[in-house]
Amino acid sequence: MGSVGNTAAAVPEVALRFGNARPIPAVGMGTAVSAPMNAVLAAIEVGFRHLDTAAMYGSERSVGEAVAEAVRRGLLESREEVFVTSKLWCTQCHPDLVVPSLRETLKNLQMEYLDLYLIHWPVCMKPGPIAFPAKKEDAVPFAFEGVWRAMEECQRLGLAKAIGVSNFTTNHLDRILAVATIPPAVNQVELNPVWQQRKLRAYCADKGIHVVAYSPLGGQDWSRTGEGNGVLGSQVLAEIAQRRGKTIAQVSLRWIYEQGVTWIVKSFNKERLKQNLDIFDWKLTEEDRLKISQIPQKKYVTAAVLFSTEGEFTSVDLADMDIVEE
Ligand code: NAP
Repeated sequence: MGSVGNTAAAVPEVALRFGNARPIPAVGMGTAVSAPMNAVLAAIEVGFRHLDTAAMYGSERSVGEAVAEAVRRGLLESREEVFVTSKLWCTQCHPDLVVPSLRETLKNLQMEYLDLYLIHWPVCMKPGPIAFPAKKEDAVPFAFEGVWRAMEECQRLGLAKAIGVSNFTTNHLDRILAVATIPPAVNQVELNPVWQQRKLRAYCADKGIHVVAYSPLGGQDWSRTGEGNGVLGSQVLAEIAQRRGKTIAQVSLRWIYEQGVTWIVKSFNKERLKQNLDIFDWKLTEEDRLKISQIPQKKYVTAAVLFSTEGEFTSVDLADMDIVEE
């Protein structure tokens, strides 16, 4: 890993194996859902140089405005200093809609290119406005080959420096790799000490696909179950944090970093943003790592969360879209 020297905190970077993007900063700012421009600007101010957005989040405009404002204020010399990721939503996962969707994303961001464009889910829905949750009847088969060809076209046109996927299991990745001339540079997935993704990490390491963690602090109850947060509520992590004089959040982020995974963390609070960057000058012990490896595993985000509990799947099987893989 290299390191970004001119940011408020020295954040390591990882070179991506595929595509032409600059190295990806180890720390990204999450903007789901609807991040205000000032929150993104605060993240840039404290040293975040990777901004994660998506067509689905409704935050592309505020991310673009924050970057433009940061350049105006001299916090950034130019847009090139930030690594910007956005994602193709399920309703746009149709070969002829991919390039136009990326152009729309770039218009929202007021940028000429993305550093990284991801397929948000291995799920395809009928074209139309973004609905969350969606109707089960709107799920249709995913044309892996045609959609990936169109993603490759995005890179060839220079609209995205690198392309990748999100929420893909090893089965979904097999289907992409079978047809890819440009392999995915990144797979962005739920990953933290409570959902460690051992199988997927080993697969991605073997194929040269960089793994980026979302919900590194356990997320924002995307499953709408009200079960609370398994990471910030973990007794094991709390004990390690107390012994090391760190917060639970820092222990989780440090553990992820030590697995060779980089992450996207959401905070709209400046002090917590700073805390989330402050994990590069200390290490977990062997004993800490052993304890974390024994934490019972639980995944919070599944394909079912995208859909209403009413209705029926008429043309796809939920199992084909399943993203739970231990
Ligand atoms: P997360 O980053 O794990 O957790 C965010 C929650 O933790 C927020 O409620 C935040 O509240 C709190 N928090 C942040 N720093 C903290 C700290 N140091 N101490 C205590 N609490 C802290 O969850 P996430 O939003 O699910 O994931 C992050 C990003 O990943 C998203 O914003 C999005 O960009 C991306 N994502 C991608 C997908 C996908 O399908 N690809 C899915 C989910 C998320 P405050 O704001 O109050 O600090």
